[in-house]
Amino acid sequence: MTQYDTTVRYFDHAANLMGLSKNMQALLLIPERELKVQVTLERDNGEIATFIGYRVQHDSARGPMKGGLRYHQETDADEVRALATLMTWKTAVVNIPYGGAKGGISINPQELSQGELERVTRKFVDAIHDMVGPDSDIPAPDMGTNAQVMAWFMSQYQKYKGFNPACVTGKPLELHGSEGREEATGRGVAILTAAMLERVKQPVQGATVAIQGFGNVGSFASQFLHAKGMKVIAVSDKDGGIFNPQGLDIPGLLQFCRDHVSVRDFSGGEQINNEKLLTMPVDVLIPAALGGVLNKDNAKDIRARYIVEAANNPTVIDADAIFEQRKLLVLPDILANSGGVTASYFEWVQNRQHFRWDLTRVRTELDRILLESFDKVWKIAEDKHVSLRTAAYLLGIGRVGRATVLAGIS
Ligand code: NAD
Repeated sequence: MTQYDTTVRYFDHAANLMGLSKNMQALLLIPERELKVQVTLERDNGEIATFIGYRVQHDSARGPMKGGLRYHQETDADEVRALATLMTWKTAVVNIPYGGAKGGISINPQELSQGELERVTRKFVDAIHDMVGPDSDIPAPDMGTNAQVMAWFMSQYQKYKGFNPACVTGKPLELHGSEGREEATGRGVAILTAAMLERVKQPVQGATVAIQGFGNVGSFASQFLHAKGMKVIAVSDKDGGIFNPQGLDIPGLLQFCRDHVSVRDFSGGEQINNEKLLTMPVDVLIPAALGGVLNKDNAKDIRARYIVEAANNPTVIDADAIFEQRKLLVLPDILANSGGVTASYFEWVQNRQHFRWDLTRVRTELDRILLESFDKVWKIAEDKHVSLRTAAYLLGIGRVGRATVLAGIS
Protein backbone atom coordinates (compact mmCIF):
# COMPACT_ATOMS: atom_id res chain seq x y z
CA MET A 1 0.00 0.00 0.00
CA THR A 2 1.44 3.38 -0.98
CA GLN A 3 1.46 6.45 1.27
CA TYR A 4 -1.23 8.05 -0.85
CA ASP A 5 -3.44 4.93 -0.61
CA THR A 6 -3.29 5.27 3.16
CA THR A 7 -4.34 8.92 3.16
CA VAL A 8 -7.16 8.18 0.68
CA ARG A 9 -8.49 5.39 2.86
CA TYR A 10 -8.46 7.58 5.98
CA PHE A 11 -10.31 10.23 3.96
CA ASP A 12 -12.83 7.72 2.55
CA HIS A 13 -13.65 6.39 5.99
CA ALA A 14 -14.44 9.85 7.39
CA ALA A 15 -16.16 11.11 4.22
CA ASN A 16 -18.47 8.06 4.18
CA LEU A 17 -19.34 8.60 7.84
CA MET A 18 -20.23 12.21 6.95
CA GLY A 19 -22.43 11.00 4.10
CA LEU A 20 -20.54 13.05 1.48
CA SER A 21 -21.60 12.23 -2.06
CA LYS A 22 -19.02 10.54 -4.33
CA ASN A 23 -18.88 13.69 -6.46
CA MET A 24 -18.08 15.85 -3.46
CA GLN A 25 -15.50 13.31 -2.29
CA ALA A 26 -13.78 13.47 -5.68
CA LEU A 27 -13.83 17.27 -5.62
CA LEU A 28 -12.19 17.36 -2.18
CA LEU A 29 -9.70 14.58 -2.80
CA ILE A 30 -8.26 15.19 -6.27
CA PRO A 31 -5.33 17.66 -6.12
CA GLU A 32 -5.81 20.99 -7.88
CA ARG A 33 -2.39 20.86 -9.53
CA GLU A 34 0.69 18.64 -9.64
CA LEU A 35 4.04 19.68 -11.04
CA LYS A 36 7.08 17.50 -11.75
CA VAL A 37 10.28 19.22 -12.82
CA GLN A 38 13.82 18.39 -13.79
CA VAL A 39 16.43 19.84 -11.42
CA THR A 40 19.91 19.76 -12.89
CA LEU A 41 23.01 20.46 -10.86
CA GLU A 42 26.65 20.95 -11.73
CA ARG A 43 28.42 19.15 -8.89
CA ASP A 44 31.55 20.52 -7.23
CA ASN A 45 33.67 18.09 -9.29
CA GLY A 46 32.16 19.34 -12.55
CA GLU A 47 29.89 16.34 -13.14
CA ILE A 48 26.24 16.86 -14.09
CA ALA A 49 23.57 15.37 -11.81
CA THR A 50 19.84 15.41 -12.60
CA PHE A 51 17.11 15.05 -9.99
CA ILE A 52 13.31 15.17 -10.03
CA GLY A 53 11.45 17.85 -8.05
CA TYR A 54 7.75 17.90 -7.19
CA ARG A 55 5.14 20.38 -5.99
CA VAL A 56 1.57 19.25 -5.41
CA GLN A 57 -1.11 21.85 -4.65
CA HIS A 58 -3.95 19.91 -3.14
CA ASP A 59 -6.66 22.37 -2.13
CA SER A 60 -7.03 26.15 -1.87
CA ALA A 61 -10.65 26.46 -0.70
CA ARG A 62 -9.63 27.93 2.68
CA GLY A 63 -6.71 30.10 1.55
CA PRO A 64 -3.22 30.02 0.03
CA MET A 65 -1.77 26.52 0.02
CA LYS A 66 0.85 25.70 2.61
CA GLY A 67 3.24 22.80 2.97
CA GLY A 68 6.83 21.74 3.47
CA LEU A 69 9.64 21.02 1.07
CA ARG A 70 11.30 17.63 1.59
CA TYR A 71 14.76 16.57 0.40
CA HIS A 72 14.99 12.79 0.64
CA GLN A 73 16.17 10.05 -1.69
CA GLU A 74 12.84 8.17 -1.43
CA THR A 75 10.64 11.19 -2.16
CA ASP A 76 8.38 10.55 -5.14
CA ALA A 77 5.11 11.80 -6.67
CA ASP A 78 2.97 9.48 -4.56
CA GLU A 79 4.54 10.58 -1.28
CA VAL A 80 4.31 14.29 -2.11
CA ARG A 81 0.65 13.90 -3.14
CA ALA A 82 -0.10 12.10 0.13
CA LEU A 83 1.63 14.78 2.20
CA ALA A 84 -0.07 17.63 0.30
CA THR A 85 -3.46 16.04 1.05
CA LEU A 86 -2.60 15.78 4.74
CA MET A 87 -1.71 19.49 4.79
CA THR A 88 -5.23 20.41 3.62
CA TRP A 89 -6.84 18.56 6.54
CA LYS A 90 -4.16 19.73 8.99
CA THR A 91 -4.54 23.46 8.30
CA ALA A 92 -8.30 22.98 8.60
CA VAL A 93 -8.05 21.07 11.92
CA VAL A 94 -6.15 23.97 13.51
CA ASN A 95 -8.38 26.42 11.64
CA ILE A 96 -5.69 28.60 10.09
CA PRO A 97 -6.58 30.28 6.76
CA TYR A 98 -4.65 28.00 4.43
CA GLY A 99 -5.09 25.10 2.06
CA GLY A 100 -2.60 22.27 1.61
CA ALA A 101 0.45 21.65 -0.58
CA LYS A 102 3.77 19.82 -0.43
CA GLY A 103 6.97 19.62 -2.40
CA GLY A 104 10.17 17.71 -2.54
CA ILE A 105 13.22 16.65 -4.47
CA SER A 106 14.38 13.02 -4.76
CA ILE A 107 17.82 13.67 -3.43
CA ASN A 108 19.99 12.62 -0.50
CA PRO A 109 21.02 15.95 1.04
CA GLN A 110 23.78 14.25 3.04
CA GLU A 111 25.60 13.42 -0.19
CA LEU A 112 25.71 17.08 -1.30
CA SER A 113 28.01 19.90 -0.22
CA GLN A 114 26.45 23.14 1.06
CA GLY A 115 27.22 24.77 -2.28
CA GLU A 116 25.51 21.95 -4.18
CA LEU A 117 22.45 22.14 -1.89
CA GLU A 118 22.22 25.86 -2.52
CA ARG A 119 22.45 25.41 -6.31
CA VAL A 120 19.82 22.63 -6.28
CA THR A 121 17.46 24.81 -4.24
CA ARG A 122 17.90 27.80 -6.55
CA LYS A 123 17.34 25.59 -9.63
CA PHE A 124 14.15 24.24 -8.09
CA VAL A 125 12.89 27.77 -7.43
CA ASP A 126 13.71 28.66 -11.05
CA ALA A 127 11.43 25.80 -12.11
CA ILE A 128 8.48 26.49 -9.79
CA HIS A 129 8.53 30.24 -9.01
CA ASP A 130 5.49 30.92 -11.17
CA MET A 131 3.23 28.61 -9.20
CA VAL A 132 4.24 29.56 -5.64
CA GLY A 133 4.07 32.83 -3.69
CA PRO A 134 2.72 34.46 -0.53
CA ASP A 135 -0.87 34.49 -1.82
CA SER A 136 -0.85 31.14 -3.58
CA ASP A 137 1.49 28.50 -2.12
CA ILE A 138 4.01 28.97 0.69
CA PRO A 139 6.71 26.30 1.27
CA ALA A 140 8.42 25.59 4.64
CA PRO A 141 11.06 23.18 6.00
CA ASP A 142 10.40 19.45 6.18
CA MET A 143 12.63 16.40 6.29
CA GLY A 144 16.08 17.19 4.88
CA THR A 145 15.52 20.95 4.63
CA ASN A 146 16.01 23.72 7.19
CA ALA A 147 16.13 27.49 7.73
CA GLN A 148 19.18 27.83 5.46
CA VAL A 149 17.35 26.13 2.57
CA MET A 150 14.40 28.49 3.14
CA ALA A 151 16.79 31.48 3.03
CA TRP A 152 18.11 30.33 -0.36
CA PHE A 153 14.54 29.73 -1.52
CA MET A 154 13.48 33.27 -0.55
CA SER A 155 16.60 34.83 -2.06
CA GLN A 156 16.02 33.11 -5.41
CA TYR A 157 12.28 33.83 -5.43
CA GLN A 158 13.00 37.52 -4.79
CA LYS A 159 15.16 37.63 -7.93
CA TYR A 160 11.91 37.15 -9.87
CA LYS A 161 9.39 39.00 -7.68
CA GLY A 162 11.28 41.56 -5.55
CA PHE A 163 11.10 41.84 -1.76
CA ASN A 164 8.84 39.02 -0.63
CA PRO A 165 9.70 37.49 2.76
CA ALA A 166 6.25 35.88 3.13
CA CYS A 167 6.93 33.60 0.12
CA VAL A 168 8.32 30.92 2.42
CA THR A 169 8.32 30.24 6.19
CA GLY A 170 10.80 28.63 8.57
CA LYS A 171 13.41 31.21 7.58
CA PRO A 172 16.39 32.16 9.80
CA LEU A 173 15.60 34.76 12.48
CA GLU A 174 18.08 37.14 10.86
CA LEU A 175 16.16 36.93 7.58
CA HIS A 176 12.51 37.57 8.47
CA GLY A 177 12.04 34.29 10.37
CA SER A 178 9.90 34.07 13.50
CA GLU A 179 10.82 33.44 17.09
CA GLY A 180 9.61 30.00 18.07
CA ARG A 181 9.14 28.59 14.54
CA GLU A 182 12.06 26.15 14.69
CA GLU A 183 10.89 24.60 17.96
CA ALA A 184 7.17 24.76 17.18
CA THR A 185 6.47 21.27 15.82
CA GLY A 186 8.35 19.58 18.67
CA ARG A 187 6.85 21.91 21.25
CA GLY A 188 3.38 21.14 19.91
CA VAL A 189 4.06 17.40 20.06
CA ALA A 190 5.00 17.71 23.75
CA ILE A 191 2.03 19.92 24.64
CA LEU A 192 -0.43 17.61 22.92
CA THR A 193 1.15 14.48 24.42
CA ALA A 194 0.72 15.97 27.90
CA ALA A 195 -2.86 17.03 27.08
CA MET A 196 -3.71 13.50 25.94
CA LEU A 197 -2.19 11.87 29.04
CA GLU A 198 -4.06 14.29 31.30
CA ARG A 199 -7.31 13.56 29.47
CA VAL A 200 -6.96 9.82 30.11
CA LYS A 201 -5.84 10.52 33.70
CA GLN A 202 -2.33 9.17 33.21
CA PRO A 203 0.46 10.93 35.11
CA VAL A 204 2.55 13.14 32.83
CA GLN A 205 5.40 13.24 35.32
CA GLY A 206 7.54 10.15 34.81
CA ALA A 207 5.65 8.86 31.73
CA THR A 208 8.16 6.95 29.58
CA VAL A 209 8.69 7.92 25.94
CA ALA A 210 10.56 6.52 22.90
CA ILE A 211 11.19 8.79 19.90
CA GLN A 212 12.17 7.63 16.40
CA GLY A 213 13.96 10.46 14.56
CA PHE A 214 16.08 13.11 16.22
CA GLY A 215 16.05 15.91 13.69
CA ASN A 216 14.11 19.14 14.05
CA VAL A 217 10.91 17.56 15.34
CA GLY A 218 12.30 14.70 17.44
CA SER A 219 14.97 16.77 19.18
CA PHE A 220 12.69 19.68 20.12
CA ALA A 221 9.97 17.23 21.18
CA SER A 222 12.46 15.50 23.50
CA GLN A 223 13.46 18.86 24.99
CA PHE A 224 9.88 19.89 25.81
CA LEU A 225 8.80 16.41 26.95
CA HIS A 226 11.80 16.35 29.30
CA ALA A 227 10.90 19.84 30.57
CA LYS A 228 7.40 18.54 31.40
CA GLY A 229 8.89 15.76 33.52
CA MET A 230 8.43 12.89 31.09
CA LYS A 231 11.18 10.29 30.87
CA VAL A 232 12.57 9.95 27.35
CA ILE A 233 14.20 6.51 27.54
CA ALA A 234 15.03 5.88 23.87
CA VAL A 235 15.75 7.94 20.75
CA SER A 236 17.07 7.06 17.31
CA ASP A 237 18.03 8.50 13.96
CA LYS A 238 18.78 6.94 10.59
CA ASP A 239 22.06 5.45 11.89
CA GLY A 240 20.63 3.78 15.01
CA GLY A 241 19.47 4.56 18.52
CA ILE A 242 20.28 4.80 22.19
CA PHE A 243 18.37 3.52 25.23
CA ASN A 244 18.55 4.15 28.97
CA PRO A 245 15.75 2.76 31.19
CA GLN A 246 16.45 5.46 33.80
CA GLY A 247 15.77 8.20 31.22
CA LEU A 248 18.28 9.72 28.82
CA ASP A 249 20.14 12.87 29.77
CA ILE A 250 18.29 15.01 27.19
CA PRO A 251 20.20 18.29 27.72
CA GLY A 252 23.46 16.30 27.44
CA LEU A 253 22.23 14.51 24.30
CA LEU A 254 21.15 17.76 22.63
CA GLN A 255 24.55 19.23 23.36
CA PHE A 256 26.24 16.05 22.02
CA CYS A 257 24.25 16.26 18.76
CA ARG A 258 25.62 19.74 18.01
CA ASP A 259 28.95 18.24 16.96
CA HIS A 260 28.27 14.53 16.37
CA VAL A 261 26.56 12.85 13.44
CA SER A 262 24.38 10.30 15.28
CA VAL A 263 22.67 9.89 18.66
CA ARG A 264 23.89 6.27 18.47
CA ASP A 265 27.35 7.34 19.68
CA PHE A 266 26.11 9.10 22.83
CA SER A 267 27.65 7.44 25.88
CA GLY A 268 24.66 7.80 28.24
CA GLY A 269 22.94 4.50 27.35
CA GLU A 270 23.12 1.29 25.33
CA GLN A 271 22.79 1.13 21.55
CA ILE A 272 19.57 -0.17 19.96
CA ASN A 273 18.32 -0.34 16.40
CA ASN A 274 15.26 1.40 14.96
CA GLU A 275 13.06 -1.74 14.92
CA LYS A 276 13.73 -2.36 18.60
CA LEU A 277 12.94 1.25 19.47
CA LEU A 278 9.49 0.99 17.90
CA THR A 279 8.55 -2.06 19.98
CA MET A 280 9.87 -0.90 23.36
CA PRO A 281 7.56 -1.15 26.39
CA VAL A 282 6.99 2.58 26.91
CA ASP A 283 3.94 4.66 27.73
CA VAL A 284 4.29 6.85 24.62
CA LEU A 285 5.83 6.03 21.23
CA ILE A 286 6.62 9.03 19.01
CA PRO A 287 7.53 8.30 15.39
CA ALA A 288 9.25 11.52 14.24
CA ALA A 289 11.01 10.46 11.04
CA LEU A 290 9.63 8.66 7.99
CA GLY A 291 6.15 7.63 6.86
CA GLY A 292 4.94 4.03 6.94
CA VAL A 293 7.10 2.86 9.86
CA LEU A 294 4.13 1.40 11.77
CA ASN A 295 2.71 -1.28 9.50
CA LYS A 296 1.11 -4.70 9.56
CA ASP A 297 4.50 -6.36 10.13
CA ASN A 298 5.13 -4.67 13.46
CA ALA A 299 1.69 -3.42 14.63
CA LYS A 300 1.07 -6.44 16.87
CA ASP A 301 4.48 -6.00 18.51
CA ILE A 302 4.07 -2.35 19.47
CA ARG A 303 4.02 -2.23 23.27
CA ALA A 304 3.41 1.50 23.79
CA ARG A 305 -0.07 2.43 25.05
CA TYR A 306 -0.13 5.78 23.29
CA ILE A 307 1.22 6.73 19.87
CA VAL A 308 1.81 10.37 19.00
CA GLU A 309 2.36 10.84 15.26
CA ALA A 310 5.00 13.56 15.05
CA ALA A 311 6.00 12.30 11.59
CA ASN A 312 3.61 12.62 8.68
CA ASN A 313 1.82 9.42 7.74
CA PRO A 314 3.80 7.07 10.02
CA THR A 315 0.92 4.57 10.40
CA VAL A 316 -0.22 2.43 7.46
CA ILE A 317 -3.97 1.85 7.57
CA ASP A 318 -3.68 -1.91 8.36
CA ALA A 319 -1.65 -1.02 11.44
CA ASP A 320 -4.17 1.65 12.37
CA ALA A 321 -6.95 -0.96 12.38
CA ILE A 322 -4.85 -3.22 14.63
CA PHE A 323 -4.16 -0.34 17.02
CA GLU A 324 -7.87 0.43 17.17
CA GLN A 325 -8.68 -3.23 17.93
CA ARG A 326 -5.97 -3.24 20.61
CA LYS A 327 -7.38 0.02 22.03
CA LEU A 328 -4.07 1.89 21.65
CA LEU A 329 -4.72 5.61 21.56
CA VAL A 330 -3.23 7.26 18.45
CA LEU A 331 -2.90 11.04 18.28
CA PRO A 332 -2.98 11.54 14.49
CA ASP A 333 -0.37 13.47 12.50
CA ILE A 334 -2.85 16.09 11.25
CA LEU A 335 -3.21 17.23 14.85
CA ALA A 336 -0.02 16.00 16.58
CA ASN A 337 2.48 17.78 14.32
CA SER A 338 0.36 20.81 13.47
CA GLY A 339 2.47 23.12 15.68
CA GLY A 340 4.86 23.66 12.77
CA VAL A 341 2.35 24.95 10.26
CA THR A 342 0.63 27.01 12.96
CA ALA A 343 3.87 28.83 13.82
CA SER A 344 4.56 29.15 10.08
CA TYR A 345 1.24 30.98 9.85
CA PHE A 346 2.45 33.36 12.59
CA GLU A 347 5.66 33.96 10.62
CA TRP A 348 3.67 34.73 7.46
CA VAL A 349 1.40 37.12 9.40
CA GLN A 350 4.44 38.93 10.85
CA ASN A 351 6.08 39.17 7.41
CA ARG A 352 2.93 40.66 5.90
CA GLN A 353 2.49 43.14 8.75
CA HIS A 354 6.23 43.92 9.04
CA PHE A 355 5.77 43.54 12.76
CA ARG A 356 7.69 41.12 14.97
CA TRP A 357 6.20 39.03 17.75
CA ASP A 358 8.32 38.00 20.73
CA LEU A 359 8.75 34.36 21.76
CA THR A 360 6.19 34.60 24.55
CA ARG A 361 3.51 35.76 22.14
CA VAL A 362 4.31 33.00 19.63
CA ARG A 363 4.25 30.32 22.33
CA THR A 364 1.06 31.63 23.93
CA GLU A 365 -0.83 31.76 20.62
CA LEU A 366 0.56 28.38 19.56
CA ASP A 367 -0.41 26.62 22.79
CA ARG A 368 -3.89 28.16 22.68
CA ILE A 369 -4.60 27.06 19.10
CA LEU A 370 -3.24 23.55 19.64
CA LEU A 371 -5.12 22.95 22.89
CA GLU A 372 -8.38 24.32 21.46
CA SER A 373 -7.99 22.04 18.43
CA PHE A 374 -7.20 19.09 20.69
CA ASP A 375 -10.39 19.75 22.72
CA LYS A 376 -12.48 19.92 19.54
CA VAL A 377 -11.07 16.68 18.15
CA TRP A 378 -11.46 14.92 21.50
CA LYS A 379 -15.09 16.00 21.79
CA ILE A 380 -15.94 14.79 18.26
CA ALA A 381 -14.27 11.44 19.06
CA GLU A 382 -16.35 11.10 22.24
CA ASP A 383 -19.63 12.29 20.73
CA LYS A 384 -19.38 10.14 17.62
CA HIS A 385 -17.56 7.16 19.19
CA VAL A 386 -14.75 7.29 16.64
CA SER A 387 -10.95 7.27 16.85
CA LEU A 388 -9.03 10.53 17.28
CA ARG A 389 -7.86 10.16 13.68
CA THR A 390 -11.38 9.87 12.31
CA ALA A 391 -12.47 12.76 14.52
CA ALA A 392 -9.67 14.96 13.18
CA TYR A 393 -10.58 14.03 9.59
CA LEU A 394 -14.25 14.79 10.27
CA LEU A 395 -13.29 18.23 11.59
CA GLY A 396 -10.84 18.99 8.77
CA ILE A 397 -12.93 17.66 5.88
CA GLY A 398 -16.03 19.39 7.27
CA ARG A 399 -14.31 22.78 7.28
CA VAL A 400 -12.83 22.37 3.80
CA GLY A 401 -16.12 21.06 2.45
CA ARG A 402 -18.13 23.98 3.84
CA ALA A 403 -15.65 26.53 2.46
CA THR A 404 -15.82 24.84 -0.96
CA VAL A 405 -19.61 24.91 -1.06
CA LEU A 406 -19.87 28.48 0.25
CA ALA A 407 -17.49 29.77 -2.43
CA GLY A 408 -19.53 28.03 -5.13
CA ILE A 409 -18.29 25.56 -7.67
CA SER A 410 -18.94 27.36 -10.99
P1 NAD B 1 14.79 16.27 9.88
O1 NAD B 1 15.39 16.08 8.55
O2 NAD B 1 15.17 17.45 10.68
O3 NAD B 1 15.06 14.96 10.78
C1 NAD B 1 14.69 13.68 10.36
C2 NAD B 1 15.22 12.68 11.39
O4 NAD B 1 14.76 11.38 11.01
C3 NAD B 1 16.73 12.61 11.46
O5 NAD B 1 17.13 12.38 12.80
C4 NAD B 1 17.05 11.39 10.61
O6 NAD B 1 18.29 10.77 10.94
C5 NAD B 1 15.88 10.50 10.98
N1 NAD B 1 15.66 9.42 10.02
C6 NAD B 1 15.70 9.49 8.67
N2 NAD B 1 15.51 8.26 8.15
C7 NAD B 1 15.31 7.42 9.19
C8 NAD B 1 15.07 6.04 9.31
N3 NAD B 1 15.00 5.26 8.22
N4 NAD B 1 14.93 5.52 10.55
C9 NAD B 1 15.03 6.31 11.64
N5 NAD B 1 15.26 7.61 11.60
C10 NAD B 1 15.41 8.17 10.38
O7 NAD B 1 13.21 16.21 9.63
P2 NAD B 1 12.05 16.82 10.55
O8 NAD B 1 11.77 18.18 10.06
O9 NAD B 1 12.38 16.58 11.99
O10 NAD B 1 10.80 15.93 10.10
C11 NAD B 1 10.55 14.67 10.69
C12 NAD B 1 9.11 14.26 10.41
O11 NAD B 1 8.22 15.25 10.95
C13 NAD B 1 8.75 14.14 8.92
O12 NAD B 1 7.80 13.11 8.77
C14 NAD B 1 8.11 15.50 8.63
O13 NAD B 1 7.23 15.43 7.53
C15 NAD B 1 7.36 15.72 9.92
N6 NAD B 1 7.02 17.13 10.17
C16 NAD B 1 7.99 18.08 10.23
C17 NAD B 1 7.65 19.40 10.50
C18 NAD B 1 8.67 20.49 10.67
O14 NAD B 1 8.29 21.60 11.07
N7 NAD B 1 9.95 20.24 10.40
C19 NAD B 1 6.29 19.75 10.68
C20 NAD B 1 5.32 18.75 10.61
C21 NAD B 1 5.71 17.44 10.36
